[in-house]
Amino acid sequence: MTLPTSTRTPLAPVVVSIRPGSPAAEHGLAPGDEIATVNGDVPRDVIEWQMATDEAEVDLEVRRGGLDLSFSITKRPGESLGIEVSSAVFDRVRTCDNHCEFCFIYQLPKGMRRSLYLKDDDYRLSFLYGNFTTLTRFTEADLERVVTERLSPLHVSIHATDPDVRSEMLKNPRGGMSLRWLRALLDHGIAVRGQIVVCPGINDGPVLDATFAGILDRFPELDSVAVVPLGISRFNGEPAMRAHTRAEAEDVVDAVADWQAVYRSTLGRRLAYAADEYYLMAERPFPPADEYDGFPMHEDGIGMARTFEAEFLGRASGATGVQRGFFAAVDAPPNPAAYTGLRAGHCADHGSETDVSAPVGLRPRRSAPVGVLTGTLGAPVIGPLVESLGRPDVRVLTVRNEFFGGNTGVTGLLTGDDVARTLTDEPEGHRYLLPDVCLSDDGRFLDGRRVDDLPRPVEVVATDGIALRTALERHE
Ligand code: SF4
Repeated sequence: MTLPTSTRTPLAPVVVSIRPGSPAAEHGLAPGDEIATVNGDVPRDVIEWQMATDEAEVDLEVRRGGLDLSFSITKRPGESLGIEVSSAVFDRVRTCDNHCEFCFIYQLPKGMRRSLYLKDDDYRLSFLYGNFTTLTRFTEADLERVVTERLSPLHVSIHATDPDVRSEMLKNPRGGMSLRWLRALLDHGIAVRGQIVVCPGINDGPVLDATFAGILDRFPELDSVAVVPLGISRFNGEPAMRAHTRAEAEDVVDAVADWQAVYRSTLGRRLAYAADEYYLMAERPFPPADEYDGFPMHEDGIGMARTFEAEFLGRASGATGVQRGFFAAVDAPPNPAAYTGLRAGHCADHGSETDVSAPVGLRPRRSAPVGVLTGTLGAPVIGPLVESLGRPDVRVLTVRNEFFGGNTGVTGLLTGDDVARTLTDEPEGHRYLLPDVCLSDDGRFLDGRRVDDLPRPVEVVATDGIALRTALERHE
């Protein structure tokens, strides 16, 4: 049984579902139960919840319909209790106090679901989902917890190492000083992945060079640094924020290459990587796969084209996983699948689970022609791969993102309206493959539409080259 999410209570974990046969099921816990304490403590988030319930003895104080109940559960240490709780953070997500002009949340249209407008700056979401934190609200107590509980890796927005530039970009005077926390995290051996959102005319050119130099000087232990372009929607109201020109994109690609050489000679590794988008904007080939050093920043759109290509061409042993896009944490499950608890010594990372292709609606014949749906940035990657099959019955259908407009081209931000508009012009009876990256776990697009609202039946396919190749093989 699974409760609808609308029943969630924000300040206490609420049981959403119980796995049949689990210790929780055997002891009679039920969806809707509100967990007051675990082993005498009130868990603040799913991290503390996981640590406490990993114990062999778990005492739960539970509220159920006005009654207070107690459960004492004995199980193997590290064995899952079998409870899915209502959210990742129980004591409210820490929101950001910055006002970045480049913030995509400020560029959303009105009327979307409320959770999309949440500006979080919470190191716990950084650990659990890979959200980037600016550390402007980070505290000594947070540092102590991160270090004690080994919440590693974290993901930190750097943008600029010059304090004045960073403060100005974050529109927060604390922006200039908060990178001292980054230094402290690195001093304590916490792995940190950095990110630079490049805004043309603001932190590119000499500022970007100074930032790369600042990283070498002050933060050389960073795991990696993702260099990503500013995203602009048609709702952007900040005149200083604009898309890169091709020449500006070329400059960023060149700067990353130059600094990779510096980092390799001084640190023995490349450290910084440019987002795939930059190579598309600059009309340059993607770097060879071995220059991504194992694709540590795949989730941030770095090296996705090369991994997709290797997967599609049968050169990869498994799928690297999907990039859920800017709103990854909003639609992610409250209990991240890859978060398996600290007792086992695992770090949270993003799962690369491959969903099984799910036909929706009346399924066309297997021998029918196939349309592969993708965003404007996915098309130049997938197009040549599909073409290499030499199959005239398979075509790429490029979906323009008119909902967000601007330079929004990633497939993960496609909306139901955009896909519907594209499909309306396509013939019935064909197979249409939709990458799952544009859907939440419950099958909704960002605009709230569902796949079964589309004008043609679609097959939802995991967003990786192996899944696409497999979906196309079924036709043969
Ligand atoms: S820190 Fe992130 S969420 Fe906060 S305003 Fe800046 S871009 Fe937006």
